[in-house]
Amino acid sequence: MGSITLSNVKKAFGDTVVIPSIDLEVNNGEFVVFVGPSGCGKSTLLRMIAGLEDTSGGTIAIDGQDVTDLSAAKRGLAMVFQSYALYPHMTVRKNIAFPLKMAGLPAVEVDKRVAAAANVLNLNDYLDRRPGQLSGGQRQRVAIGRAIVREPTAFLFDEPLSNLDAALRVNMRLEISELHQTLGTTMIYVTHDQVEAMTMADKIVVLQAGRVEQVGSPLDLYRNPRNKFVAGFIGSPK
Ligand code: ADP
Ligand code: MG
Repeated sequence: MGSITLSNVKKAFGDTVVIPSIDLEVNNGEFVVFVGPSGCGKSTLLRMIAGLEDTSGGTIAIDGQDVTDLSAAKRGLAMVFQSYALYPHMTVRKNIAFPLKMAGLPAVEVDKRVAAAANVLNLNDYLDRRPGQLSGGQRQRVAIGRAIVREPTAFLFDEPLSNLDAALRVNMRLEISELHQTLGTTMIYVTHDQVEAMTMADKIVVLQAGRVEQVGSPLDLYRNPRNKFVAGFIGSPK
């Protein structure tokens, strides 16, 4: 479970077409990175997949089921943003538990899932702290914890590390890759950072001005960039 298929997906804001048409296949368990310059449509595409933004045409399917008209809540995906959007007055435990409480899960199940997420993310010693008492990396882990407890079909990350300093970014990159290994869940990860794309992805989708320039493994793109834009962006010598 966790394949995502986009067919002829379009997006316009008023008269401005930002995504003319995108076809894309994300396989179950894959770590797919959307990379491209600022304004190329990465967030818009991710938000359409999440159900946070309407499409202007085309279809989105999850595990073969058309979800184009389903609300975000019914798609079973979890989004992690760059601004952590944690509740400052709640403890880490309560922040992580929040989406489950909202969904009305029994307390026993909530506690079980929060404990499991805290284990995976090394947050056991911080469960009774508030976000203000955490480092940037710990806060980002709490935000990821809030996604994990929902046991989503896929995780959608929108530039989750862009607010962190360089050293911490490297650590968190490794942690997210490890998390993918551990959970085996499909992840789509948006970034404008070529290094993140090259080091994290099973499959990279290079976007420019709302179009897919090329799709391939990091090595494919490095060895056989389809054009100058991809070569330049990926840092290929070609
Ligand atoms: P990226 O995430 O790659 O930086 P975005 O998906 O945020 O790019 O934006 C793609 C294009 O769509 C940009 O030209 C942006 O200005 C435009 N855009 C995004 N959201 C809106 C909106 N709500 N209304 C109008 N234009 C928008
Ligand atoms: Mg963006």
